[in-house]
Amino acid sequence: MIKPASFWESQHPKIVIDEPLRGAARVDVAIIGGGFTGLSAAREIKLSEPALSVSVFEAQYVGYGASGRNGGFNMTLFGLEPEITILRWGQQRTQEAQHYMIRAVEYVRELIEQYDLDSAYEHTGIVRVAYSSAQVKRLKNSMELFQKLGLGANYQFQPSRQIRQSIHSPRFQAGIFEKNSGIINPFKHVQELKRIAKNAGASIYERTPILKIEKSSNSIKLQTPDGIVTCNRLIIATNAWSNTVRGLPRIRSRQAPVWTSQVVTQKLSEQQWDDIGWSQRQSVEDNRQLIHYFRRTRCGRLTMGGGNVAFPNKNTMESMNTVKIWKDLHGHIKWLFPSLKDIQIEHRWGGPVSVNLDMTPEIGFIGDQRIIYSAGCIGHGVSLTQLNGRTIADLVLENQTELTDFWIVNRKALAWPPGWVGDGIVRAISTGLKLWDALEERELQEKPDI
Ligand SMILES: Cc1cc2nc3c(=O)[nH]c(=O)nc-3n(C[C@H](O)[C@H](O)[C@H](O)COP(=O)(O)OP(=O)(O)OC[C@H]3O[C@@H](n4cnc5c(N)ncnc54)[C@H](O)[C@@H]3O)c2cc1C
Repeated sequence: MIKPASFWESQHPKIVIDEPLRGAARVDVAIIGGGFTGLSAAREIKLSEPALSVSVFEAQYVGYGASGRNGGFNMTLFGLEPEITILRWGQQRTQEAQHYMIRAVEYVRELIEQYDLDSAYEHTGIVRVAYSSAQVKRLKNSMELFQKLGLGANYQFQPSRQIRQSIHSPRFQAGIFEKNSGIINPFKHVQELKRIAKNAGASIYERTPILKIEKSSNSIKLQTPDGIVTCNRLIIATNAWSNTVRGLPRIRSRQAPVWTSQVVTQKLSEQQWDDIGWSQRQSVEDNRQLIHYFRRTRCGRLTMGGGNVAFPNKNTMESMNTVKIWKDLHGHIKWLFPSLKDIQIEHRWGGPVSVNLDMTPEIGFIGDQRIIYSAGCIGHGVSLTQLNGRTIADLVLENQTELTDFWIVNRKALAWPPGWVGDGIVRAISTGLKLWDALEERELQEKPDI
């Protein structure tokens, strides 16, 4: 009996979990990890080169990872925020990153349309909201930045009156609405990705953790509990679990897992929705550093995630008890919408996101070009990781394309220092971001500890 890893999974009809690998297998391309990255890469490789054998090995079951647990925001945000990206990477690269992300959102939307996927997709747009004058100032800077990047037409600045007309929260001081964004039910979507990857000819083995990778000059071998896989090319699509992968020390230093939490309310009555408005159903993120993300669900609930983060044990990656953070998220809902002061929370969960040292996604090679990994999508990987699947397919097939020329591919990313130094850095970054928020929100009254 599986305990659902998220609200989305708990509402999903019983899934069929495919058989684990037993015995020896030989494949052209092996993929570790059955999330958006791995499944998307598997399908794309098979569609481009049907003659290649492609197998995905998932430690638990498809949807167990972040891909089945997330907020479902199909969005263009790259890294932490554009102002930081431009500071670190300059205008040209920020522009290229934004174009990649716009393409990524479209890629997901078109995929859903093309295959008629049952992903509960709604192209609602997204609004980034500010609660304080300092946050409004940064929103205005963002608008200027988007204009400078030639992307102004995609965004609309909404002063407090306009944003509150749409979503009735007295806390919103301003917002930036972006039309090019949507929401999915992530668990449904990842199950659909499994279905179409199999239809394209990929094999999926679930309950098949890869225990060890052994690389030699003429083959790559993967050890599973009941078998062994020999492959020519390997894709490591384990995201925030990458530090648990054994056999290739370099993969362990690419990223660190950080835990983000989410809650879902009971169903709201029609009267409660009328009080809140929100008829356009746009998703919302706030303009904090430790952001909150919130949206409506198809079944009439409100889901809220983010705020403070936690740090899972890097070796076990066990689910975390984040009672205090869930309580804060509940408090934040009531703070935003005073009419929901009695609303109850019915589901609580969380999951790890993959954070690298410069908060910028990367796709790279380990050792030589036979082994490809992807990491560092932070909490903004729904669209990114799916397009990354296409980019990784091009790398595997040795096709140089516009996607493989994107500068996150094979960039010289900084490694996390090992042990307590690395752990200290991730905690220091999170404390810094928390202080930044506290400073920008000190004018707010009656604010719960968020
Ligand atoms: C709570 C939460 C909310 C989020 N909300 C959003 C959002 O709204 N919008 C957005 O853009 N992004 C969001 N994200 C981030 C987004 O979900 C991820 O970036 C994305 O799903 C990562 O996909 P992936 O395929 O790379 O990794 P995952 O989906 O994490 O898949 C990795 C898989 O690898 C498997 N694995 C690990 N080790 C092994 C092994 N040794 N052998 C075999 N398999 C292994 C794991 O079991 C897992 O299933 C959120 C993340 C979380 C956790």
